[in-house]
Amino acid sequence: MAKGNNSEYKKMIDKQYSDLMKHCQVQMEKVEKDLPEPKEDFQAVLKEHGVSRRDFIKWTSAMTAALMLPPIFRPMVAKAAENFSRLPVVWLHFAECTGCSEAFLRSSYPNVDDILLDTISLEYHETLMAASGYQAEQNLEKAIKDFAGKFICVIEGALPRGLNGKYLTLGPKGKTGIQVAKEVTSKAAAVVCIGACSCYGNIQAAKPNPTDAVGISKALGISTVNIAGCPPNSVNFTGTLLHYLMFGSLPPLDSLGRPVWAYGKRIHDYCERRPHYDASEFVEEWGDKGALKGWCLYKMGCKGPYTYANCAKVRFNDGISWPIMGGHGCIGCTEPGFWDTMAPLEKPLDEKTYGGGEKTVDKIGIVLTGAAVAGIAVHAVASGVRHSGGKK
Ligand code: SF4
Repeated sequence: MAKGNNSEYKKMIDKQYSDLMKHCQVQMEKVEKDLPEPKEDFQAVLKEHGVSRRDFIKWTSAMTAALMLPPIFRPMVAKAAENFSRLPVVWLHFAECTGCSEAFLRSSYPNVDDILLDTISLEYHETLMAASGYQAEQNLEKAIKDFAGKFICVIEGALPRGLNGKYLTLGPKGKTGIQVAKEVTSKAAAVVCIGACSCYGNIQAAKPNPTDAVGISKALGISTVNIAGCPPNSVNFTGTLLHYLMFGSLPPLDSLGRPVWAYGKRIHDYCERRPHYDASEFVEEWGDKGALKGWCLYKMGCKGPYTYANCAKVRFNDGISWPIMGGHGCIGCTEPGFWDTMAPLEKPLDEKTYGGGEKTVDKIGIVLTGAAVAGIAVHAVASGVRHSGGKK
């Protein structure tokens, strides 16, 4: 449909969103019918944490926009949040530092996303549960049996493949991480990788990678949703699960398995120092005049032009700050292999490999705009297909 014919185009968009809304309503009814009762009254939990109704409404508006949905979906986002604790989750830990769990669950000033994570129905989480040894193993077996095909398998940590996987053994029977991961993921409704370790291997996979560690998708040959970052932002995780509750499907992903709504644009596109980049005002040395004035960190090795993530938009610690705001350039932690290629370099990337920052900035900008538009289009088309009973 040509955009030129405005009223026809508007009708078509309205129809798509109305179909998507119907699909969402049916899906939410299914969630309420098929999944266990919420373990906690979410509104009461919000009140306990001092989050007012007004703050919650503000959060639902922000989350609706972040998920690339029009405002009519705000009540559905609120409903999905209230039903968040119905979703059974089995959370596995492999080769990692548990920093992602720590970052998500130990917020000093929890926002609505952090509170949602507090209420999540964790059927199994090695760091948080009291059980250990055989009892822990039984808990895991019971969870994957009781919720087969319905639970979300969340994975933190890479899988070492060396020595037949024996660099990582777990539990009283000494199973390898690869064995446990295969058993659990084969029964899950979806596999969500939290953090750069489970997404791509991260520091464990950095050269020389003695244990042959890799991300989950590569180790098992399965598709995963990759909430990349070291650590990632809790908003990107909760938003992805809210989308799953609302539509019964995962959001559109980019070629690296990252949700487009959260990773569709570069750090450089949202960065508050961008006007300085455009005006060629750069920090040339730590502590210089430019550093004091908050100029662009590109020449100090900021990898924002090469890194796809929404850190500048959603920030960390209840939206207070993020690394570039704090004065350090982006290290590229949402990109594969960033320890080997980006993080240690306090200078722009090699021009031969990456085409030079400025050139790359322009090139990536064009690709990115295409990717973001494609993401929105995929969302609408996928929704249309689902509604018409087509194959997802
Ligand atoms: S290079 Fe880094 S600091 Fe400069 S505008 Fe881009 S993201 Fe921001």
